Amino acid sequence: MSRKMPDEAYEEFKQVAGENNVSIEPEVLETYTYMNGLAQGAMGFHWNRKPIGVVLPSTLEEVRKILEICTRYGLKFKAHSTAWVIMALATSGNVVLLDMRRMNNLEINERDFFLITESYPPAGVAQIEAMKKGLQPHLVGAGPNASNLASATSMQGTGGTSVRTSMNERNVLAVEWVLPTGEVLKLGSINTPGAGWFCGDGPGPSLRGMMRGAVGQVSGNGVFTKVALKLYPWYGPEYKGGGEPPFFNSEEVPNSYLKYVLWDSFDDEAEGLYRLGEAEIIDYNNRWAAGAFTSAMTTSNQEYLDAEAAGKYKEMFGKGFWTFFMHAPSERSLKHRIKVFEKIVSDTGGEIADPMIFGKRSYEIALQNAVRAIWIAKAAYMPTSANTGSMPMTYENIDQCFKYALPISVNAKKEYANQDKILNEGADNCYACIDEDGHYIHIEHACLIDTWEPKGEPGGAAMVGMAKALSKGMGLLYMSWPGSLKDFIVYLQYSAQIQSMIDPNGIADSSGTMGASYLAT
Ligand SMILES: Cc1cc2nc3c(=O)[nH]c(=O)nc-3n(C[C@H](O)[C@H](O)[C@H](O)COP(=O)(O)OP(=O)(O)OC[C@H]3O[C@@H](n4cnc5c(N)ncnc54)[C@H](O)[C@@H]3O)c2cc1C
Repeated sequence: MSRKMPDEAYEEFKQVAGENNVSIEPEVLETYTYMNGLAQGAMGFHWNRKPIGVVLPSTLEEVRKILEICTRYGLKFKAHSTAWVIMALATSGNVVLLDMRRMNNLEINERDFFLITESYPPAGVAQIEAMKKGLQPHLVGAGPNASNLASATSMQGTGGTSVRTSMNERNVLAVEWVLPTGEVLKLGSINTPGAGWFCGDGPGPSLRGMMRGAVGQVSGNGVFTKVALKLYPWYGPEYKGGGEPPFFNSEEVPNSYLKYVLWDSFDDEAEGLYRLGEAEIIDYNNRWAAGAFTSAMTTSNQEYLDAEAAGKYKEMFGKGFWTFFMHAPSERSLKHRIKVFEKIVSDTGGEIADPMIFGKRSYEIALQNAVRAIWIAKAAYMPTSANTGSMPMTYENIDQCFKYALPISVNAKKEYANQDKILNEGADNCYACIDEDGHYIHIEHACLIDTWEPKGEPGGAAMVGMAKALSKGMGLLYMSWPGSLKDFIVYLQYSAQIQSMIDPNGIADSSGTMGASYLAT
């Protein structure tokens, strides 16, 4: 049961953050309660728990004091950055939300290739600033609007540029972290005298697993106030676009190469990916199929339905397709990369297609995805506005994903497609990208489940995939789970122990994760 914010606590929050930076007004709290987020349509509701108050801190010290007040009055806390995902809202009673938008500082260190960001600066802003200096940060697939701190410390961290700029879990150089007890923990080089902000986890054992594990603790283990992240080269000039949203007109990126590639079978696709990764020539990679492409190409549900009925995207991309982008430091280097690329694609039976194949829109979508990570969200949300992953959604090696996990979710969707209720372009609607030129890949299988939408896909498509993946001991929800129930219980016990060590008073609104991803790294 939620209760009202105690008057004394309200006064103390105001003293810490300033009168205008605390609210218990019902109208304001309502705006912190609604979200149309990932998986929410499948659960049948779009309203979360209402917080009992919202506080906007502006410094580390204010955050620390706010957590102390929460402890004193038995309140819970939940922090959020730009609040793009439902776990950023309250998920239990008596929650005070920390809206971190006033913690908006960003610093680019050009000499040593790193940035320091507070909670709020969107990744896309950091990118534009870094590009001016010939550098770029990693952008997660969530888009340029999302906070880079959030994806590095508290949630996931992968995206199409992961092939070149790694995933944010591995880009963290140092971190400033306020534990639920109010204690400030500094990880990495900031706690190493004289080291500056630019060496990994610093001396001693790494706490990165405890900080975020596989996919982050979604504010269940404290509040992160600053993070230092690696930067990577950008061969310029900075991205510029004009015209009207959503398609804009991008300026050409010199010494770059952008193509679609289609393979006929998962086996050929896997082989092509292994070889392209090992060749270390790709700067952006993204797999979609017809459903996501149709969502990106159309601007209304009617347009979507018309395109679906016309069937031309399904004919072309029904078995999935990749976008590859290469951006080289010189013309000579680009020529070399293109030669290697074309040979690998041809050796593995792939077909190269021009991104202009469906006109300027399809070109802009490919380029803006590659450079700015702009289109994933739109692809995920049209036309039901609710995207839920069809399981297993695995983060594993390429064989595991393409030869085992993907066939499971494709078959699960096929079973339900037969019921003629499906509102997308077929059984394969898989999104994927490889990391760090390596053998590691992440697959998500978009499913348009919304219990309010009669034409939406039924939840069973996700459930069947989940049951089959679990019965085969496969990675699920981006984590590799222990194969047997007995091992799973041990795993949960360790996770619970870590959680009670970090949050002995239980004041974190942990979105029900109970630290479940600490060990699944
Ligand atoms: C459409 C869509 C597509 C997505 N695609 C991808 C993807 O391709 N790859 C990927 O990695 N992720 C993806 N995500 C998830 C994404 O990682 C997170 O949404 C991202 O980190 C959001 O940034 P944000 O600023 O909106 O964070 P928020 O939504 O504000 O927060 C995300 C989580 O982190 C916690 N948090 C935020 N700030 C802090 C802080 N300072 N201290 C402690 N906890 C904090 C929040 O409580 C919340 O649980 C996607 C999300 C959406 C909605």
